[in-house]
Amino acid sequence: MGILIHLAKRWVAGEYLEDAVERARYANTRGITGIINHVGEHNEDIAEIEASAEEYSRLLDGIKQEQIDSAISIKLTQLGLMKDVQTCTGTIEPLIRKAADLGIFVWIDMEGSAYTQNIIDIYKQLYRENKNIGLAIQAYLFRTPGDLKDLSAIGGKIRLCKGAYKELADIAIRKHDDIRKAYEDQMEMMFRNGGPELIAVATHDDELIDLARQLNRDHPRNFEFQMLMGAHDKRKEELAREGYKVCGYIPYGKGWLGYFLRRCNEQKRDIKTAVVCVIKGD
Ligand SMILES: Cc1cc2nc3c(=O)[nH]c(=O)nc-3n(C[C@H](O)[C@H](O)[C@H](O)COP(=O)(O)OP(=O)(O)OC[C@H]3O[C@@H](n4cnc5c(N)ncnc54)[C@H](O)[C@@H]3O)c2cc1C
Repeated sequence: MGILIHLAKRWVAGEYLEDAVERARYANTRGITGIINHVGEHNEDIAEIEASAEEYSRLLDGIKQEQIDSAISIKLTQLGLMKDVQTCTGTIEPLIRKAADLGIFVWIDMEGSAYTQNIIDIYKQLYRENKNIGLAIQAYLFRTPGDLKDLSAIGGKIRLCKGAYKELADIAIRKHDDIRKAYEDQMEMMFRNGGPELIAVATHDDELIDLARQLNRDHPRNFEFQMLMGAHDKRKEELAREGYKVCGYIPYGKGWLGYFLRRCNEQKRDIKTAVVCVIKGD
């Protein structure tokens, strides 16, 4: 259990909002913007949905009051999507409006493929009136080039990630190298065509990071790097010193153990990576 806690603390700020704000404050001192996430998903119960929304509302106040440079990142199945689309939009729209009033950006995480279409539809609907929101898109899904085209056409703000869920071979690329190739092509398409108002390159993959730097030299865009808390910390700081905007995703909450174990299960290679990182102090 001791080593588990040690490993988890690399990736999770702690149980409380204050832990996350402190972690984001520390990231800010290193030139890195925070993206704070209150861990949780698949809330079926309306009381839990409301409690999660209330937590995010307090988080927005905390970020403002403590003058932290941080966005938030939300999961729609935590905030009403398990009920229906209306419950979800009714729950998140006031949060997004409050965030806009406070000058805070809101990222929407992408979840398992059962929710992809609803999440994209909700994003498109809310983006018409709320420009302070961005959406994560998963490179491994076959549908993604089409989604990127649609979202680029409305000038959406896009976080491109490889994808963290176990998906079936008929809807998603499964081989690691093929996923990287898809990511390269999709990133290149966004930089070359210039549709999205913001391109967030969310990866720790050095080849992709280097490609993003090169693409941005050839086709300068509004773009930023995003990485998880506890991963590639030295690289984050190097990129920030080079003048890039770099964001660190900071999860917190009482559900940290579940989040950590799920991450381990989804990305078994990360355990090996994390052990190497702890040993190397990277
Ligand atoms: C900011 C951010 C937001 C994300 N949001 C979503 C989302 O909304 N939906 C979704 O499905 N997925 C999301 N992901 C997860 C993403 O889809 C991948 O599962 C995850 O980032 C691993 O892919 P990778 O591109 O970093 O490359 P990988 O090929 O997995 O790793 C490349 C290298 O990065 C290093 N590395 C990777 N992970 C870690 C780690 N945890 N700790 C230390 N080193 C590591 C290793 O050295 C590895 O060799 C997000 C990732 C980030 C960074």
